[in-house]
Amino acid sequence: MTGEVVALPNIQPDRLQFIKTETPKAPPPSQSLMFGHTFTDHMLTIPWSSLEGWGVPKIEPYGPLSLEPSCTVLHYAQTIFEGMKAYRDEHGKVTLFRPDMNMKRMNTSAARIALPTFNGDAFLDLIKKLIHAERDWIPREPGHSLYIRPTMIGTQKFIGVAPPSEALLFVICSPVGPYYPDGFKPIALYGTTEYIRAAPGGTGAYKLGVNYAPGVMPQKQAAKMGYAQNLWLHGPEHYLTEVGTMNMFVVLKKNDGTIELVTPPLDGMILPGVTRDSVLALARGHASGSYKISDLPDKLVVSERPITMVEIQEAEASGALVELFGSGTAAVISPVNRIGYLGKDIHIPTGEDGMGPVSRPIWTELVGRQMGTIPSDWSVPVTA
Ligand SMILES: *Cc1c(COP(=O)(O)O)cnc(C)c1O
Repeated sequence: MTGEVVALPNIQPDRLQFIKTETPKAPPPSQSLMFGHTFTDHMLTIPWSSLEGWGVPKIEPYGPLSLEPSCTVLHYAQTIFEGMKAYRDEHGKVTLFRPDMNMKRMNTSAARIALPTFNGDAFLDLIKKLIHAERDWIPREPGHSLYIRPTMIGTQKFIGVAPPSEALLFVICSPVGPYYPDGFKPIALYGTTEYIRAAPGGTGAYKLGVNYAPGVMPQKQAAKMGYAQNLWLHGPEHYLTEVGTMNMFVVLKKNDGTIELVTPPLDGMILPGVTRDSVLALARGHASGSYKISDLPDKLVVSERPITMVEIQEAEASGALVELFGSGTAAVISPVNRIGYLGKDIHIPTGEDGMGPVSRPIWTELVGRQMGTIPSDWSVPVTA
């Protein structure tokens, strides 16, 4: 047996055990939903160990996990997560939006903190089975969805900093309403020069639990000053990076009337958002003439390039600043109307209905593709 490499089992959907809850709950009225507070009846769990690989997947009643106080996640933040949504169209058809990207990103996150990687197709297969089982929890009202939270934690009983020999992959689901139930409400940002979210060579480009707790206190401070979120800046040049936990886009108008859509490049400090990628793909398709998005300006260029606060200030002064917005799964598009920076406020136009001339048509297209009113390869059916 010396030198023989035995491949350990990957995730095996055909071994799924389904343990149904004996106390099913009734989903609460959709109007009462608050983001991330309500969970469905079941969860998916898949254990892993370095000796046996991926174990038996279970869909079981939602409930507490049993963890030893010594386990690695509780000490060294060995935890990663994803965020995706399942939508239900008016005919009852359930879909996910570009879930392959979430599977890829979760594997990238796992590898970054030495958690085990997995077969993304097999995991997605099991996630679909969970969503199918919980399909009555997907609210029917427009703009509502089921938020899916895949998570992986290190569970080895060991107070040492090392790759864990045991891990748990699990998925919970939460019915959610629209982020902006009463129409788009632009938010104000605090351009913080005291704190950072990410640094070169760090972990900003991965969806690791460790990236989020340090942002809570600065967010509270920003809120005290009347700003909804931090605008995270980088370096002495104050490059714009991200908005709270969203990617960031700026729209500028050039002298010849061309509209430029700018977002910072994936330089290792930016989380590669699925929404970011979708906004870029739609805008590039339109700019190249291969796909027409109605009402989006025709003279459009799309740039992934660094942009500094000085450039934002100059654009405000010259009237070239058209709009600024955040993008992410939870809110889709979040318009920004103000940035507090070095003791002054920069004012950003938001258009008459809360959204600007680039974000509005892109949002309409994106939401249409997510909800199934616009046919798209990005929309993936969930069946039994
Ligand atoms: C999740 C996340 C995003 C947005 O990613 P989506 O895939 O579009 O939801 C952006 N920035 C940070 C820091 C995030 O955690």
